[in-house]
Amino acid sequence: MKRAIFPGSFDPFTIGHESIVRRALHLFDEILIAIGYNSEKKGFFTIDNRIKIIEEVFENKNCIKVEKYNKLTVDFCKEKNIKFILRGLRTASDFEYERAIAQMNHFMENDIETIFLLTEAEHTPVSSTILREILKHNGDVCKFIPKCIDLKKYL
Ligand code: ADP
Repeated sequence: MKRAIFPGSFDPFTIGHESIVRRALHLFDEILIAIGYNSEKKGFFTIDNRIKIIEEVFENKNCIKVEKYNKLTVDFCKEKNIKFILRGLRTASDFEYERAIAQMNHFMENDIETIFLLTEAEHTPVSSTILREILKHNGDVCKFIPKCIDLKKYL
Protein backbone atom coordinates (compact mmCIF):
# COMPACT_ATOMS: atom_id res chain seq x y z
CA MET A 1 0.00 0.00 0.00
CA LYS A 2 1.42 3.40 -1.02
CA ARG A 3 1.11 5.98 1.72
CA ALA A 4 2.04 9.64 1.89
CA ILE A 5 2.09 12.25 4.58
CA PHE A 6 0.75 15.75 3.81
CA PRO A 7 2.35 17.97 6.46
CA GLY A 8 1.37 21.55 7.11
CA SER A 9 -0.16 24.04 9.53
CA PHE A 10 -3.63 23.98 7.92
CA ASP A 11 -4.64 27.05 9.94
CA PRO A 12 -7.24 26.76 8.43
CA PHE A 13 -7.58 23.96 5.83
CA THR A 14 -8.52 25.52 2.45
CA ILE A 15 -9.89 24.42 -0.92
CA GLY A 16 -6.26 24.53 -2.13
CA HIS A 17 -5.23 21.91 0.45
CA GLU A 18 -8.33 19.83 -0.26
CA SER A 19 -7.62 19.77 -3.97
CA ILE A 20 -4.01 18.62 -3.43
CA VAL A 21 -5.23 15.75 -1.19
CA ARG A 22 -7.98 14.63 -3.59
CA ARG A 23 -5.65 14.71 -6.60
CA ALA A 24 -2.93 12.86 -4.70
CA LEU A 25 -5.38 10.00 -4.13
CA HIS A 26 -4.63 9.03 -7.75
CA LEU A 27 -1.03 8.43 -6.64
CA PHE A 28 -1.42 7.10 -3.10
CA ASP A 29 -3.76 4.63 -1.39
CA GLU A 30 -3.68 6.48 1.90
CA ILE A 31 -2.83 10.05 2.88
CA LEU A 32 -2.05 11.11 6.42
CA ILE A 33 -2.69 14.83 6.85
CA ALA A 34 -0.23 15.77 9.58
CA ILE A 35 -0.64 19.02 11.46
CA GLY A 36 2.74 20.17 12.67
CA TYR A 37 2.58 22.25 15.81
CA ASN A 38 4.90 24.09 18.08
CA SER A 39 3.78 24.22 21.72
CA GLU A 40 5.15 27.78 22.05
CA LYS A 41 3.36 29.13 18.98
CA LYS A 42 -0.37 29.66 19.28
CA GLY A 43 -2.26 29.28 16.02
CA PHE A 44 -5.48 31.00 14.97
CA PHE A 45 -7.50 27.78 15.23
CA THR A 46 -6.57 25.29 17.96
CA ILE A 47 -4.88 22.10 16.81
CA ASP A 48 -7.90 20.06 17.92
CA ASN A 49 -10.27 22.26 15.92
CA ARG A 50 -8.02 22.06 12.85
CA ILE A 51 -8.24 18.28 13.15
CA LYS A 52 -12.05 18.44 13.50
CA ILE A 53 -12.36 20.68 10.42
CA ILE A 54 -10.31 18.24 8.30
CA GLU A 55 -12.28 15.26 9.65
CA GLU A 56 -15.50 17.04 8.68
CA VAL A 57 -14.16 17.64 5.15
CA PHE A 58 -13.22 13.99 4.62
CA GLU A 59 -15.87 12.25 6.70
CA ASN A 60 -16.52 8.71 5.39
CA LYS A 61 -13.19 8.66 3.54
CA ASN A 62 -11.18 5.97 5.28
CA CYS A 63 -8.12 6.53 3.13
CA ILE A 64 -7.62 10.01 4.61
CA LYS A 65 -6.31 10.22 8.17
CA VAL A 66 -5.48 13.27 10.31
CA GLU A 67 -2.98 13.56 13.14
CA LYS A 68 -0.93 16.21 14.88
CA TYR A 69 2.81 15.97 15.45
CA ASN A 70 5.49 17.94 17.24
CA LYS A 71 8.82 16.77 15.88
CA LEU A 72 10.83 16.76 12.64
CA THR A 73 8.64 15.73 9.71
CA VAL A 74 11.16 13.05 8.69
CA ASP A 75 11.08 11.60 12.21
CA PHE A 76 7.29 11.51 12.10
CA CYS A 77 7.51 9.75 8.69
CA LYS A 78 9.86 7.17 10.16
CA GLU A 79 7.60 6.64 13.16
CA LYS A 80 4.68 6.03 10.78
CA ASN A 81 6.80 4.10 8.27
CA ILE A 82 5.86 6.50 5.45
CA LYS A 83 8.32 7.22 2.61
CA PHE A 84 6.58 10.03 0.73
CA ILE A 85 5.96 13.63 1.73
CA LEU A 86 3.29 15.43 -0.28
CA ARG A 87 3.44 19.22 -0.75
CA GLY A 88 1.64 21.73 -2.94
CA LEU A 89 3.26 24.42 -5.08
CA ARG A 90 1.58 27.71 -5.95
CA THR A 91 4.31 30.13 -6.95
CA ALA A 92 8.02 30.47 -7.59
CA SER A 93 8.54 31.58 -4.00
CA ASP A 94 6.72 28.45 -2.77
CA PHE A 95 9.14 26.49 -4.96
CA GLU A 96 12.27 28.04 -3.42
CA TYR A 97 11.01 27.46 0.11
CA GLU A 98 9.81 23.93 -0.60
CA ARG A 99 12.97 23.02 -2.49
CA ALA A 100 15.18 23.83 0.49
CA ILE A 101 12.99 21.91 2.95
CA ALA A 102 12.68 18.89 0.65
CA GLN A 103 16.42 18.78 0.00
CA MET A 104 17.21 19.09 3.72
CA ASN A 105 14.71 16.34 4.50
CA HIS A 106 16.37 14.20 1.84
CA PHE A 107 19.81 14.86 3.37
CA MET A 108 18.47 13.75 6.73
CA GLU A 109 16.58 10.69 5.46
CA ASN A 110 17.74 9.43 2.11
CA ASP A 111 14.85 7.08 1.50
CA ILE A 112 12.17 9.74 2.01
CA GLU A 113 11.07 11.56 -1.15
CA THR A 114 8.96 14.72 -1.45
CA ILE A 115 6.32 14.70 -4.17
CA PHE A 116 4.98 18.07 -5.38
CA LEU A 117 1.67 18.79 -7.04
CA LEU A 118 1.11 22.13 -8.76
CA THR A 119 -1.95 23.95 -7.52
CA GLU A 120 -5.00 24.25 -9.74
CA ALA A 121 -4.70 27.68 -11.37
CA GLU A 122 -7.80 29.04 -9.62
CA HIS A 123 -6.36 28.11 -6.20
CA THR A 124 -3.07 29.97 -6.66
CA PRO A 125 -4.05 33.00 -4.52
CA VAL A 126 -5.73 30.95 -1.78
CA SER A 127 -3.62 30.93 1.38
CA SER A 128 -4.39 30.24 5.05
CA THR A 129 -2.57 33.47 5.97
CA ILE A 130 -4.91 35.60 3.86
CA LEU A 131 -7.98 33.70 5.09
CA ARG A 132 -6.95 34.35 8.72
CA GLU A 133 -6.67 38.05 7.92
CA ILE A 134 -10.17 38.05 6.37
CA LEU A 135 -11.56 36.15 9.37
CA LYS A 136 -9.98 38.59 11.84
CA HIS A 137 -12.01 41.34 10.21
CA ASN A 138 -15.22 39.29 10.08
CA GLY A 139 -15.05 38.76 6.32
CA ASP A 140 -16.62 35.80 4.54
CA VAL A 141 -14.20 33.02 3.56
CA CYS A 142 -16.85 30.44 2.68
CA LYS A 143 -15.79 30.24 -0.99
CA PHE A 144 -12.28 29.23 0.01
CA ILE A 145 -13.15 26.56 2.58
CA PRO A 146 -14.12 23.00 1.53
CA LYS A 147 -17.85 22.22 1.68
CA CYS A 148 -18.28 25.74 2.97
CA ILE A 149 -17.74 24.44 6.49
CA ASP A 150 -18.92 26.91 9.11
CA LEU A 151 -15.59 27.97 10.59
CA LYS A 152 -17.27 30.19 13.19
CA LYS A 153 -18.13 27.16 15.31
CA TYR A 154 -14.41 26.34 15.48
CA LEU A 155 -13.18 29.80 16.42
P1 ADP B 1 3.08 25.29 6.00
O1 ADP B 1 2.96 26.13 7.25
O2 ADP B 1 3.88 24.02 6.21
O3 ADP B 1 3.48 26.04 4.76
P2 ADP B 1 0.37 25.26 4.99
O4 ADP B 1 -0.80 24.75 5.75
O5 ADP B 1 0.40 26.71 4.72
O6 ADP B 1 1.61 24.74 5.81
O7 ADP B 1 0.51 24.49 3.61
C1 ADP B 1 0.66 23.10 3.55
C2 ADP B 1 1.01 22.71 2.11
O8 ADP B 1 -0.08 23.04 1.26
C3 ADP B 1 2.22 23.43 1.54
O9 ADP B 1 2.91 22.53 0.68
C4 ADP B 1 1.63 24.55 0.74
O10 ADP B 1 2.47 24.96 -0.32
C5 ADP B 1 0.39 23.86 0.21
N1 ADP B 1 -0.66 24.82 -0.13
C6 ADP B 1 -1.11 25.84 0.61
N2 ADP B 1 -2.09 26.53 -0.04
C7 ADP B 1 -2.24 25.91 -1.24
C8 ADP B 1 -3.05 26.15 -2.39
N3 ADP B 1 -3.90 27.17 -2.45
N4 ADP B 1 -2.92 25.31 -3.46
C9 ADP B 1 -2.05 24.28 -3.40
N5 ADP B 1 -1.23 24.01 -2.36
C10 ADP B 1 -1.33 24.81 -1.29
